[in-house]
Amino acid sequence: MKVFLTGGAGFIGSHTALVLVEAGHDVVVYDNLSNASRESLNRVERLTGGRIAFIEGDIRDGARLDRVFAESDIDAVIHFAGLKAVGESTEQPLAYYENNVAGTLTLCHAMDRANLRTLVFSSSATVYAESREMPLPEDAPTGRPTNPYGSSKLMIEWLLRDLQTADPRWSIALLRYFNPVGAHESGRIGEDPQGRPNNLLPFISQVAVGRLPELAVYGNDYSTRDGTGVRDYIHVMDLAAGHRAALDAIAGSAGLWTWNLGTGRGYSVLEMIRAFENVADREIAYRIAPRRPGDVAECWADASRAERDLGWRAERGLEEIMRDAWRWQRENPEGYRDAG
Ligand code: NAD
Ligand code: UDP
Repeated sequence: MKVFLTGGAGFIGSHTALVLVEAGHDVVVYDNLSNASRESLNRVERLTGGRIAFIEGDIRDGARLDRVFAESDIDAVIHFAGLKAVGESTEQPLAYYENNVAGTLTLCHAMDRANLRTLVFSSSATVYAESREMPLPEDAPTGRPTNPYGSSKLMIEWLLRDLQTADPRWSIALLRYFNPVGAHESGRIGEDPQGRPNNLLPFISQVAVGRLPELAVYGNDYSTRDGTGVRDYIHVMDLAAGHRAALDAIAGSAGLWTWNLGTGRGYSVLEMIRAFENVADREIAYRIAPRRPGDVAECWADASRAERDLGWRAERGLEEIMRDAWRWQRENPEGYRDAG
């Protein structure tokens, strides 16, 4: 298949590109490089020995998408492109609705004009309503997200559902990711946050290499086993394999499917720190800080639907996550700004 990856130079996109190239697919990446580097794809090419067609472009540019779709015979789109910083989204809601919601709308119009109606979308566990019942199955109620980033993901889900209802020729997968972490086992590609990381594991990794002095643990008074927040951390290579499985499942049959991509297990912040310390063999300085607004106590997936429908499940455990995250951080302390 020839697969078009919007946002394919980013963290999850680059790992998925690698998995798709290794599976024999042709990959075209379309990315405006607002939060990524071309270097990630150079490295995927070196790791796989394959070629990736790269187009620097914006999903909000419908005329550009028309030209690209007219020139290349794309079979399916995996749509990663978007902005993802929760805190920034509260300060710049319009940028988030424009890139994420309006960008998806523009992309869908262009796909429709090109008779291209197979789409895999990067959704998030953030669409679920706060719940005391864990794990979360796909039919758990969606909520009123606490920030514009989360709202944009839920709005896109609604948009895609309405589109598929109105035109049943569409084939759409909504993939609700839990907490993607880790890196390719080579240590050559990984997560490269610009500026101060928002997410837990990149923050821990940067404390470990001395780029940041200490981690703030946001709250130790939740009703969890040690008082700190519990999340479902999924290795990015398992997540990438989930995209491949979803694509194989939906290609050629019309409909809309929703799948959780998680491990089905939750770990607390303190357990994450300990697991990292064990693998990296160094201490992570941390202090207990107030809760972060908008955080829930715990969140993990019921991942059984993906296993049943796709024959997919997360294979990698916490130790591999930490080992690969640490290898990437140690060998690329400045991310893709490091040479070679
Ligand atoms: P990322 O920032 O590394 O990747 C997103 C990519 O999209 C970047 O390469 C960026 O340059 C590109 N991009 C942004 N706006 C664009 C635009 N208007 N036109 C073209 N390209 C654009 O993020 P990621 O972690 O790889 O996330 C990929 C997707 O998964 C995002 O949609 C994100 O919201 C979603 N998601 C991520 C997480 C997570 O924790 N990483 C969790 C749930 C969902
Ligand atoms: N967290 C923390 N310190 C940080 C970043 C995150 O204690 O600097 C906690 C956060 O409160 C949550 C967990 O780590 O319980 C995962 O947060 P992250 O931002 O990585 O993902 P989220 O689940 O919020 O999308």
